[in-house]
Amino acid sequence: MDILIVGQGLAGTVTGFRLEAAGHTVHYVDAPEQTAASSVAAGIVNPITGRRFVKSWLIDELIPETIDLYGRMGKLLGHKYWHPQPLIRTLYNRGDLNDWEVRSADAGYAEYMEDQPAPGRITEITEPVFAYAGVKHAGRVDVKNLVADYRIKLITEQRYFGLAFDYTTVPALLGDGTTTNLPNGMLPTYDRIIFCEGWRGRYNPYFADLGHGGNKGEVLFVRTEAKQLDRMFKHRVFLVPVEDDLYWVGATSEHQFADDQPSEENRTFLEDRLREVLTVPYVIESHEAAVRPTSRDRRMMIGTHATEPRLAVLNGLGTKGASLAPMGSKWLVAHLLEGAEIPVEVGIERFLDK
Ligand SMILES: Cc1cc2nc3c(=O)[nH]c(=O)nc-3n(C[C@H](O)[C@H](O)[C@H](O)COP(=O)(O)OP(=O)(O)OC[C@H]3O[C@@H](n4cnc5c(N)ncnc54)[C@H](O)[C@@H]3O)c2cc1C
Repeated sequence: MDILIVGQGLAGTVTGFRLEAAGHTVHYVDAPEQTAASSVAAGIVNPITGRRFVKSWLIDELIPETIDLYGRMGKLLGHKYWHPQPLIRTLYNRGDLNDWEVRSADAGYAEYMEDQPAPGRITEITEPVFAYAGVKHAGRVDVKNLVADYRIKLITEQRYFGLAFDYTTVPALLGDGTTTNLPNGMLPTYDRIIFCEGWRGRYNPYFADLGHGGNKGEVLFVRTEAKQLDRMFKHRVFLVPVEDDLYWVGATSEHQFADDQPSEENRTFLEDRLREVLTVPYVIESHEAAVRPTSRDRRMMIGTHATEPRLAVLNGLGTKGASLAPMGSKWLVAHLLEGAEIPVEVGIERFLDK
Protein backbone atom coordinates (compact mmCIF):
# COMPACT_ATOMS: atom_id res chain seq x y z
CA MET A 1 0.00 0.00 0.00
CA ASP A 2 0.93 3.66 -0.32
CA ILE A 3 0.50 5.17 3.11
CA LEU A 4 0.63 8.79 4.26
CA ILE A 5 1.43 9.53 7.89
CA VAL A 6 0.57 12.97 9.24
CA GLY A 7 3.03 13.88 12.03
CA GLN A 8 6.56 12.56 12.37
CA GLY A 9 7.03 12.52 16.11
CA LEU A 10 7.64 9.24 17.89
CA ALA A 11 4.20 7.79 17.09
CA GLY A 12 4.48 8.46 13.37
CA THR A 13 8.10 7.37 13.21
CA VAL A 14 7.64 3.93 14.77
CA THR A 15 4.40 3.29 12.90
CA GLY A 16 6.06 4.12 9.59
CA PHE A 17 9.06 1.95 10.45
CA ARG A 18 6.80 -1.06 11.01
CA LEU A 19 4.84 -0.46 7.80
CA GLU A 20 7.99 -0.04 5.79
CA ALA A 21 9.41 -3.24 7.27
CA ALA A 22 6.23 -4.97 6.07
CA GLY A 23 6.93 -3.78 2.52
CA HIS A 24 4.69 -0.71 2.23
CA THR A 25 5.56 2.74 0.88
CA VAL A 26 5.29 5.37 3.59
CA HIS A 27 5.31 9.14 3.09
CA TYR A 28 5.09 11.78 5.80
CA VAL A 29 3.58 15.22 6.08
CA ASP A 30 4.96 16.96 9.15
CA ALA A 31 5.25 20.57 10.25
CA PRO A 32 8.84 20.76 11.49
CA GLU A 33 8.59 24.31 12.85
CA GLN A 34 6.07 23.22 15.49
CA THR A 35 7.28 22.02 18.88
CA ALA A 36 6.98 18.25 19.26
CA ALA A 37 6.87 16.35 22.54
CA SER A 38 9.31 13.85 21.04
CA SER A 39 12.01 16.53 20.75
CA VAL A 40 11.84 17.45 24.42
CA ALA A 41 11.20 14.11 26.15
CA ALA A 42 13.88 12.40 28.24
CA GLY A 43 12.46 9.08 27.06
CA ILE A 44 12.55 7.57 30.53
CA VAL A 45 11.08 4.10 30.80
CA ASN A 46 10.10 3.77 34.42
CA PRO A 47 8.37 0.55 35.51
CA ILE A 48 7.45 1.84 39.02
CA THR A 49 5.82 5.26 39.08
CA GLY A 50 4.22 7.81 41.33
CA ARG A 51 4.21 8.36 45.04
CA ARG A 52 2.35 5.10 45.57
CA PHE A 53 4.96 3.07 43.68
CA VAL A 54 2.58 1.50 41.22
CA LYS A 55 3.70 -0.71 38.35
CA SER A 56 3.21 0.99 34.97
CA TRP A 57 0.37 -0.43 32.92
CA LEU A 58 1.35 -3.57 30.96
CA ILE A 59 5.03 -2.96 31.72
CA ASP A 60 5.96 -6.68 31.63
CA GLU A 61 4.96 -6.78 27.98
CA LEU A 62 6.02 -3.24 27.03
CA ILE A 63 9.68 -3.60 28.01
CA PRO A 64 10.55 -6.53 25.68
CA GLU A 65 8.67 -4.78 22.85
CA THR A 66 10.56 -1.55 23.59
CA ILE A 67 13.96 -3.23 23.55
CA ASP A 68 13.14 -5.13 20.37
CA LEU A 69 11.77 -2.22 18.35
CA TYR A 70 14.39 0.39 19.25
CA GLY A 71 17.07 -2.26 18.77
CA ARG A 72 15.87 -2.90 15.23
CA MET A 73 15.59 0.81 14.48
CA GLY A 74 19.08 1.30 15.89
CA LYS A 75 20.44 -1.31 13.49
CA LEU A 76 18.74 0.39 10.55
CA LEU A 77 19.98 3.87 11.47
CA GLY A 78 23.37 2.95 12.89
CA HIS A 79 22.81 4.35 16.40
CA LYS A 80 21.86 3.11 19.83
CA TYR A 81 18.55 4.50 21.06
CA TRP A 82 17.75 2.24 24.03
CA HIS A 83 19.98 2.84 27.03
CA PRO A 84 19.20 0.55 29.96
CA GLN A 85 19.98 2.50 33.12
CA PRO A 86 18.92 1.98 36.74
CA LEU A 87 16.66 4.63 38.19
CA ILE A 88 17.35 5.69 41.76
CA ARG A 89 14.49 7.31 43.63
CA THR A 90 14.52 9.20 46.88
CA LEU A 91 12.53 7.96 49.84
CA TYR A 92 11.89 11.11 51.84
CA ASN A 93 10.92 9.63 55.21
CA ARG A 94 10.05 6.49 57.15
CA GLY A 95 6.53 6.46 55.71
CA ASP A 96 7.91 6.33 52.16
CA LEU A 97 10.29 3.56 53.13
CA ASN A 98 7.49 1.57 54.69
CA ASP A 99 5.27 2.05 51.60
CA TRP A 100 8.12 0.95 49.35
CA GLU A 101 8.78 -2.18 51.40
CA VAL A 102 5.11 -3.11 51.56
CA ARG A 103 4.71 -2.61 47.82
CA SER A 104 7.76 -4.67 46.95
CA ALA A 105 6.13 -7.64 48.66
CA ASP A 106 3.18 -7.46 46.20
CA ALA A 107 3.07 -10.11 43.52
CA GLY A 108 5.03 -9.17 40.40
CA TYR A 109 6.83 -6.20 42.00
CA ALA A 110 10.05 -7.69 43.38
CA GLU A 111 11.54 -7.99 39.91
CA TYR A 112 11.39 -4.20 39.51
CA MET A 113 12.18 -2.96 43.03
CA GLU A 114 15.54 -2.89 44.76
CA ASP A 115 15.53 -1.96 48.44
CA GLN A 116 19.05 -0.74 49.01
CA PRO A 117 20.47 0.11 45.61
CA ALA A 118 24.02 1.32 45.11
CA PRO A 119 23.55 5.04 44.37
CA GLY A 120 26.82 5.23 42.44
CA ARG A 121 28.14 8.78 42.19
CA ILE A 122 24.77 10.30 43.09
CA THR A 123 26.02 10.98 46.64
CA GLU A 124 28.99 12.94 45.25
CA ILE A 125 26.92 15.56 43.47
CA THR A 126 23.59 15.70 45.31
CA GLU A 127 22.33 16.48 48.80
CA PRO A 128 22.02 13.55 51.25
CA VAL A 129 18.57 11.95 51.46
CA PHE A 130 16.69 9.75 53.93
CA ALA A 131 17.07 6.62 51.78
CA TYR A 132 17.38 5.50 48.16
CA ALA A 133 15.23 2.99 46.34
CA GLY A 134 16.10 1.40 43.03
CA VAL A 135 13.88 0.75 40.03
CA LYS A 136 15.17 -2.13 37.94
CA HIS A 137 14.62 -2.67 34.20
CA ALA A 138 14.41 1.11 33.77
CA GLY A 139 16.12 2.92 30.94
CA ARG A 140 16.06 5.78 28.53
CA VAL A 141 15.06 5.94 24.89
CA ASP A 142 16.85 8.63 22.93
CA VAL A 143 13.58 9.73 21.38
CA LYS A 144 14.84 13.06 20.11
CA ASN A 145 17.70 11.59 18.09
CA LEU A 146 15.64 8.64 16.89
CA VAL A 147 13.06 10.98 15.37
CA ALA A 148 15.76 13.31 14.00
CA ASP A 149 17.80 10.47 12.45
CA TYR A 150 14.71 8.90 10.92
CA ARG A 151 13.78 12.28 9.47
CA ILE A 152 17.15 12.54 7.74
CA LYS A 153 16.54 9.13 6.17
CA LEU A 154 13.07 10.20 5.04
CA ILE A 155 14.33 13.47 3.57
CA THR A 156 17.12 11.65 1.74
CA GLU A 157 14.57 9.24 0.28
CA GLN A 158 12.21 12.13 -0.60
CA ARG A 159 9.46 10.76 1.61
CA TYR A 160 9.21 13.70 4.03
CA PHE A 161 7.07 16.73 3.21
CA GLY A 162 7.61 19.55 5.68
CA LEU A 163 4.28 21.33 5.78
CA ALA A 164 1.12 21.69 7.83
CA PHE A 165 -1.42 19.14 6.67
CA ASP A 166 -4.54 20.56 5.05
CA TYR A 167 -7.45 18.40 6.26
CA THR A 168 -9.68 19.52 3.38
CA THR A 169 -7.46 17.49 1.02
CA VAL A 170 -8.35 14.15 2.65
CA PRO A 171 -11.12 13.10 0.18
CA ALA A 172 -8.91 13.90 -2.82
CA LEU A 173 -5.87 12.16 -1.31
CA LEU A 174 -8.02 9.07 -0.86
CA GLY A 175 -9.00 9.21 -4.52
CA ASP A 176 -12.38 10.94 -4.21
CA GLY A 177 -11.45 14.07 -6.15
CA THR A 178 -8.41 15.75 -7.66
CA THR A 179 -5.39 16.76 -5.62
CA THR A 180 -3.74 20.02 -6.59
CA ASN A 181 -0.64 21.92 -5.48
CA LEU A 182 1.01 18.87 -3.99
CA PRO A 183 4.73 19.17 -3.26
CA ASN A 184 7.08 17.43 -5.64
CA GLY A 185 7.31 13.73 -4.83
CA MET A 186 4.04 13.44 -2.98
CA LEU A 187 1.66 10.90 -4.51
CA PRO A 188 -1.69 12.14 -5.85
CA THR A 189 -3.49 9.49 -3.79
CA TYR A 190 -2.81 7.17 -0.86
CA ASP A 191 -4.43 3.90 0.25
CA ARG A 192 -4.35 4.90 3.91
CA ILE A 193 -3.77 8.09 5.91
CA ILE A 194 -2.58 7.65 9.50
CA PHE A 195 -2.74 10.58 11.90
CA CYS A 196 -0.03 10.88 14.55
CA GLU A 197 -0.25 14.59 15.33
CA GLY A 198 0.40 14.52 19.06
CA TRP A 199 -1.64 17.00 21.11
CA ARG A 200 -2.64 18.92 17.98
CA GLY A 201 -4.77 15.92 17.04
CA ARG A 202 -7.60 17.84 18.70
CA TYR A 203 -7.72 20.07 15.60
CA ASN A 204 -8.17 17.10 13.23
CA PRO A 205 -11.82 17.18 12.12
CA TYR A 206 -11.83 13.40 11.52
CA PHE A 207 -10.72 12.50 15.03
CA ALA A 208 -11.63 15.58 17.07
CA ASP A 209 -14.23 13.59 19.06
CA LEU A 210 -11.67 11.44 20.83
CA GLY A 211 -10.65 12.21 24.40
CA HIS A 212 -7.77 14.50 23.44
CA GLY A 213 -5.96 16.22 26.27
CA GLY A 214 -2.65 18.00 26.58
CA ASN A 215 -0.12 18.45 29.31
CA LYS A 216 2.57 21.05 28.93
CA GLY A 217 6.01 20.17 30.22
CA GLU A 218 9.16 22.24 30.57
CA VAL A 219 12.72 21.02 31.04
CA LEU A 220 16.22 22.36 31.54
CA PHE A 221 19.38 21.03 29.94
CA VAL A 222 22.18 21.52 32.43
CA ARG A 223 25.94 20.98 32.42
CA THR A 224 28.02 20.23 35.50
CA GLU A 225 31.76 19.80 35.77
CA ALA A 226 31.31 16.64 37.82
CA LYS A 227 31.86 13.22 36.34
CA GLN A 228 28.76 11.94 34.60
CA LEU A 229 26.27 9.88 36.62
CA ASP A 230 25.61 6.39 35.34
CA ARG A 231 22.12 6.28 36.80
CA MET A 232 18.96 8.31 36.45
CA PHE A 233 17.99 10.04 39.67
CA LYS A 234 14.56 11.17 40.81
CA HIS A 235 14.66 13.64 43.66
CA ARG A 236 12.02 16.41 43.36
CA VAL A 237 12.77 16.33 39.62
CA PHE A 238 14.37 13.79 37.32
CA LEU A 239 18.07 14.20 36.71
CA VAL A 240 18.85 12.19 33.60
CA PRO A 241 22.39 11.86 32.23
CA VAL A 242 22.17 12.46 28.49
CA GLU A 243 25.74 12.63 27.20
CA ASP A 244 29.14 13.79 28.48
CA ASP A 245 28.36 16.26 31.26
CA LEU A 246 24.86 17.13 30.04
CA TYR A 247 21.73 16.40 32.10
CA TRP A 248 18.05 16.57 31.31
CA VAL A 249 16.25 18.10 34.28
CA GLY A 250 12.48 18.00 34.46
CA ALA A 251 9.78 18.21 34.10
CA THR A 252 6.87 20.49 34.92
CA SER A 253 3.30 19.40 34.30
CA GLU A 254 0.39 21.70 33.41
CA HIS A 255 -3.03 20.67 32.12
CA GLN A 256 -3.97 24.30 31.47
CA PHE A 257 -1.68 26.22 29.15
CA ALA A 258 -1.95 29.26 26.95
CA ASP A 259 0.89 28.27 24.61
CA ASP A 260 3.64 25.68 24.17
CA GLN A 261 6.56 28.01 24.92
CA PRO A 262 8.98 28.00 27.89
CA SER A 263 7.96 30.36 30.70
CA GLU A 264 9.99 32.31 33.27
CA GLU A 265 7.83 30.93 36.04
CA ASN A 266 8.60 27.31 35.22
CA ARG A 267 12.26 28.01 34.68
CA THR A 268 12.37 29.40 38.20
CA PHE A 269 10.45 26.36 39.48
CA LEU A 270 12.95 23.96 37.91
CA GLU A 271 15.96 25.99 39.03
CA ASP A 272 14.64 26.01 42.60
CA ARG A 273 14.26 22.22 42.55
CA LEU A 274 17.73 21.85 41.09
CA ARG A 275 19.25 24.01 43.82
CA GLU A 276 17.65 21.75 46.42
CA VAL A 277 19.27 18.69 44.83
CA LEU A 278 22.66 19.47 43.28
CA THR A 279 25.73 20.26 45.37
CA VAL A 280 28.02 21.03 42.42
CA PRO A 281 28.03 24.13 40.19
CA TYR A 282 26.03 23.88 36.99
CA VAL A 283 25.26 25.91 33.90
CA ILE A 284 21.86 25.96 32.25
CA GLU A 285 22.35 25.32 28.57
CA SER A 286 18.76 25.48 27.41
CA HIS A 287 15.17 25.63 28.59
CA GLU A 288 12.57 23.87 26.43
CA ALA A 289 8.85 23.21 26.43
CA ALA A 290 6.36 21.00 24.61
CA VAL A 291 2.92 19.49 25.12
CA ARG A 292 2.42 15.81 25.96
CA PRO A 293 -0.44 14.24 23.99
CA THR A 294 -2.59 12.95 26.83
CA SER A 295 -6.05 11.45 26.71
CA ARG A 296 -9.00 11.75 29.09
CA ASP A 297 -8.47 8.28 30.58
CA ARG A 298 -4.67 8.25 30.19
CA ARG A 299 -4.70 5.47 27.64
CA MET A 300 -3.52 5.52 24.05
CA MET A 301 -6.06 6.22 21.30
CA ILE A 302 -5.73 3.74 18.45
CA GLY A 303 -8.10 2.86 15.64
CA THR A 304 -9.69 3.59 12.31
CA HIS A 305 -12.39 6.12 11.52
CA ALA A 306 -15.95 4.90 12.09
CA THR A 307 -17.15 5.61 8.55
CA GLU A 308 -13.89 5.97 6.60
CA PRO A 309 -11.68 2.99 7.52
CA ARG A 310 -8.87 4.24 5.31
CA LEU A 311 -8.18 6.86 8.00
CA ALA A 312 -6.41 5.72 11.15
CA VAL A 313 -5.00 7.28 14.30
CA LEU A 314 -2.31 6.62 16.91
CA ASN A 315 -2.30 9.21 19.64
CA GLY A 316 -2.55 9.71 23.42
CA LEU A 317 0.95 8.47 24.22
CA GLY A 318 0.91 10.84 27.17
CA THR A 319 3.78 10.83 29.64
CA LYS A 320 5.03 7.37 28.67
CA GLY A 321 5.38 7.52 24.91
CA ALA A 322 8.82 5.90 24.87
CA SER A 323 7.48 2.60 26.22
CA LEU A 324 3.95 2.81 24.78
CA ALA A 325 4.75 3.67 21.18
CA PRO A 326 6.34 0.29 20.31
CA MET A 327 3.26 -1.65 21.45
CA GLY A 328 0.74 0.93 20.23
CA SER A 329 2.22 0.95 16.75
CA LYS A 330 2.32 -2.86 16.73
CA TRP A 331 -1.40 -3.03 17.53
CA LEU A 332 -2.29 -0.43 14.92
CA VAL A 333 -0.21 -2.02 12.17
CA ALA A 334 -1.54 -5.52 12.93
CA HIS A 335 -5.05 -4.07 12.74
CA LEU A 336 -4.42 -2.32 9.43
CA LEU A 337 -2.58 -5.19 7.76
CA GLU A 338 -4.19 -8.28 9.26
CA GLY A 339 -7.47 -7.04 10.70
CA ALA A 340 -6.29 -7.90 14.24
CA GLU A 341 -8.45 -6.59 17.09
CA ILE A 342 -7.19 -3.52 18.92
CA PRO A 343 -7.42 -3.99 22.72
CA VAL A 344 -10.57 -2.24 23.96
CA GLU A 345 -8.74 -0.18 26.58
CA VAL A 346 -6.86 1.66 23.83
CA GLY A 347 -9.42 1.44 21.01
CA ILE A 348 -10.99 4.76 20.00
CA GLU A 349 -14.49 3.25 20.14
CA ARG A 350 -14.48 3.89 23.89
CA PHE A 351 -14.93 7.60 23.14
CA LEU A 352 -17.19 7.25 20.14
CA ASP A 353 -19.71 4.93 21.84
CA LYS A 354 -20.51 7.55 24.47
C1 LIG B 1 8.67 17.70 28.86
C2 LIG B 1 8.33 16.33 28.42
C3 LIG B 1 8.97 15.26 28.98
C4 LIG B 1 8.66 13.96 28.58
N1 LIG B 1 9.35 12.92 29.11
C5 LIG B 1 9.06 11.66 28.73
C6 LIG B 1 9.77 10.57 29.26
O1 LIG B 1 10.73 10.74 30.02
N2 LIG B 1 9.40 9.31 28.89
C7 LIG B 1 8.39 9.09 28.01
O2 LIG B 1 8.10 7.93 27.71
N3 LIG B 1 7.69 10.12 27.49
C8 LIG B 1 7.99 11.39 27.84
N4 LIG B 1 7.30 12.43 27.32
C9 LIG B 1 6.15 12.13 26.45
C10 LIG B 1 6.57 11.84 25.01
O3 LIG B 1 7.32 12.90 24.55
C11 LIG B 1 5.32 11.66 24.15
O4 LIG B 1 4.49 10.66 24.65
C12 LIG B 1 5.66 11.31 22.69
O5 LIG B 1 6.85 11.90 22.27
C13 LIG B 1 4.53 11.73 21.81
O6 LIG B 1 4.85 11.49 20.47
P1 LIG B 1 3.83 11.90 19.31
O7 LIG B 1 4.46 11.46 18.05
O8 LIG B 1 2.48 11.38 19.63
O9 LIG B 1 3.72 13.49 19.39
P2 LIG B 1 4.77 14.62 18.99
O10 LIG B 1 6.13 14.24 19.36
O11 LIG B 1 4.26 15.90 19.56
O12 LIG B 1 4.73 14.67 17.42
C14 LIG B 1 3.62 15.13 16.69
C15 LIG B 1 4.10 15.61 15.33
O13 LIG B 1 2.98 15.88 14.51
C16 LIG B 1 3.17 17.09 13.83
N5 LIG B 1 1.87 17.66 13.46
C17 LIG B 1 0.80 17.89 14.26
N6 LIG B 1 -0.23 18.37 13.55
C18 LIG B 1 0.20 18.46 12.27
C19 LIG B 1 -0.39 18.90 11.07
N7 LIG B 1 -1.66 19.33 11.01
N8 LIG B 1 0.34 18.89 9.92
C20 LIG B 1 1.62 18.42 9.94
N9 LIG B 1 2.24 17.98 11.07
C21 LIG B 1 1.53 18.01 12.21
C22 LIG B 1 3.95 17.94 14.81
O14 LIG B 1 4.63 18.99 14.17
C23 LIG B 1 4.91 16.89 15.41
O15 LIG B 1 6.08 16.77 14.64
C24 LIG B 1 7.63 13.74 27.64
C25 LIG B 1 6.99 14.83 27.06
C26 LIG B 1 7.35 16.11 27.44
C27 LIG B 1 6.66 17.28 26.79
